[in-house]
Amino acid sequence: MMENHWSREDIERQVEEVRQTIRKAAATAGRRPEEIRLMAVTKTVPAQVVNYAWEAGITLFGENRAQELMEKYGDYAFKAPEIHFIGTLQTNKVRQIIGRVSCIESVDSFHLAQEISKRALATGGPMDIFLEVNIGREESKGGVLPEELEKLLEQTALLAGVRVRGLMCIPPICEKEEETRRYFDQMYKLFVDTKHKKIDNGTMEYLSMGMSGDYALAIEHGSNLVRVGTALFGRRNYQK
Ligand SMILES: *Cc1c(COP(=O)(O)O)cnc(C)c1O
Repeated sequence: MMENHWSREDIERQVEEVRQTIRKAAATAGRRPEEIRLMAVTKTVPAQVVNYAWEAGITLFGENRAQELMEKYGDYAFKAPEIHFIGTLQTNKVRQIIGRVSCIESVDSFHLAQEISKRALATGGPMDIFLEVNIGREESKGGVLPEELEKLLEQTALLAGVRVRGLMCIPPICEKEEETRRYFDQMYKLFVDTKHKKIDNGTMEYLSMGMSGDYALAIEHGSNLVRVGTALFGRRNYQK
């Protein structure tokens, strides 16, 4: 984990800047800023700095590695933030994270959903999940292909231990803004389509899209949950 070179004031300022950007993007899109949830993505960020973000009013955090979540959990769980798991998840890690997160955003197979359902039922109530869509059809990325989403939705609807609450995506890095907009648009359409389908065990409420480089755009295209790391905590080395 990186050293802490952030002060509480740095984090407060950065949180305020990101909030400002969210307000502006919402205004541009004619939306209310309160509709949009800000997640602080805390991979590689030490627990102390995570807590500064909590003190600056962030209530939703995202971690993408089971191991790191476990290591940090004890240090910031006492603040009881809401934590979403947003990374690639192997079925054998589900057991570790199940009691520690309130939602798993990166579900992209029935196999994984089944394991989550089983573990969730064994430890308490159902787990909220989002289905991840590979909107750019990139081989290197997780997520179901757009045309496979409906089937996965139907399958997961049969599981008693999960509730499907949203969709998530990580679109390709594009040179041109129009290309990014096109992916966001496709995602928004999928979101609206699936929202109108009745799911037995969930309500499609969240469209989790937009990261530091593009969250303002994502908000213009209907995102209501943005996952922001770098813009809050600075550049980090993700190749840990
Ligand atoms: C790291 C990460 C983010 C945040 O990325 P930044 O560009 O640092 O804002 C968002 N979503 C996922 C799934 C991530 O792994």
